[in-house]
Amino acid sequence: MEVRRTAPVKLIVPDENRDDLHETAEQFLYCANRAAEFCWDDNSYTNCISTNAIARDALYTELREETDLTANLVQEAIRRAVQATKGCVERWKKDNRVSQPEFTSWSMVYDKRSATFYRNRVSLSTISGRVECDFELPADSPTPYEQYVLSEEYELRTSTLQYDKVSDEFYFHITTRKHGSDSDEESEVSEDTEHQTVLGIDLGVNSLAVASTGTFWQGDEYDHWCREFEKRRGEMQQRGTQAAHNALLRLGKREEAWRKQYIHTAANEIVMEAVEHECDVIVFEDLTDIREEIPNAKWHHVWAFRRLYEYVEYKAPNRGVSVEKVEPNHTSQRCFRTDCGFTHPDNRHGEQFCCQRCGYEVNADYNGAKNIGLRYARKRQYRLRSSPKSGNGDAPVDVRLNGGTVNGESYQPIAGD
Ligand SMILES: [Zn+2]
Repeated sequence: MEVRRTAPVKLIVPDENRDDLHETAEQFLYCANRAAEFCWDDNSYTNCISTNAIARDALYTELREETDLTANLVQEAIRRAVQATKGCVERWKKDNRVSQPEFTSWSMVYDKRSATFYRNRVSLSTISGRVECDFELPADSPTPYEQYVLSEEYELRTSTLQYDKVSDEFYFHITTRKHGSDSDEESEVSEDTEHQTVLGIDLGVNSLAVASTGTFWQGDEYDHWCREFEKRRGEMQQRGTQAAHNALLRLGKREEAWRKQYIHTAANEIVMEAVEHECDVIVFEDLTDIREEIPNAKWHHVWAFRRLYEYVEYKAPNRGVSVEKVEPNHTSQRCFRTDCGFTHPDNRHGEQFCCQRCGYEVNADYNGAKNIGLRYARKRQYRLRSSPKSGNGDAPVDVRLNGGTVNGESYQPIAGD
């Protein structure tokens, strides 16, 4: 079996080059869709083309003329379409309903020649020449170059460039293969279909954060110090002198540094929780409407939640862990028992969750964290099953719990859970 790792790294793309990447991605999608059209035949799967060399020989010259893409990007676009067609043909053989693969999401494949790695940056082929992008990494962490390119153990494979519309950020998903593990170039599956293990994280007022593994990050100390700082600020404001004003500014800076340090520590621990439990993904709730979700959250809680998410998102990729969000959608009111799933506001009483239907009783934030992981697992399985890229539709996702796992479809009860 081939052993692979994928690490998403945020890129700092110069403003003047952002459009180059967008245009390149558009042309890449065009090539992939043209190739998919070429490979597909609605009448019979025996007419579909699932050999890369045939598609490449037929399309390469034409697509090079029609687009401004480099040779390697055109080849990768064709390869992507052939892989997707092959997946569809496999499903068709099993009598599943299939249709011609269609590529719509912003994503392009870079091989070793179209992406050149340097210590702190990568140089990417685009329609207007090379674009250099710095990696966004903490100062003390190993760079992807040190981690993967120089690694004796792993060999750099094709990587994908992705764009996140919501944050307006570009991510480079670097894929490496362990030396000595088998590789069959023609039967490579999309990295999306690989097995994933998920760590769900609930951010709450009672506890700063709770993981689906049952680990808690209590917010007591954080709350205590926020109150202390507030008290000191009040005293100084009352004095109203210039000296008090200066002291107030200094206090503000000290408080901010303290808060950041506190959240950094929690973020590091959450990332380590994922690493120690062999999770590939950390899943949070989307915090956009946090005010509606947690009406009694104080401003320093809201500040802490946002920072914690940002820090984890920033640190996790260095450990080979990605970070995802799911919409909140009553995760705190829903019973985690998958044979129950009853959702009602009365299920939650402050820190305690008690299902009004099946009687399941558990800490409310822990219940929430498990539901967040499960929500992501279900969504991913559904998405992969309805995507032409997923081949046989088998895309296992497990949520890591305390002493076991649960996957998005079946529920295996775990003792004491
Ligand atoms: Zn229940």
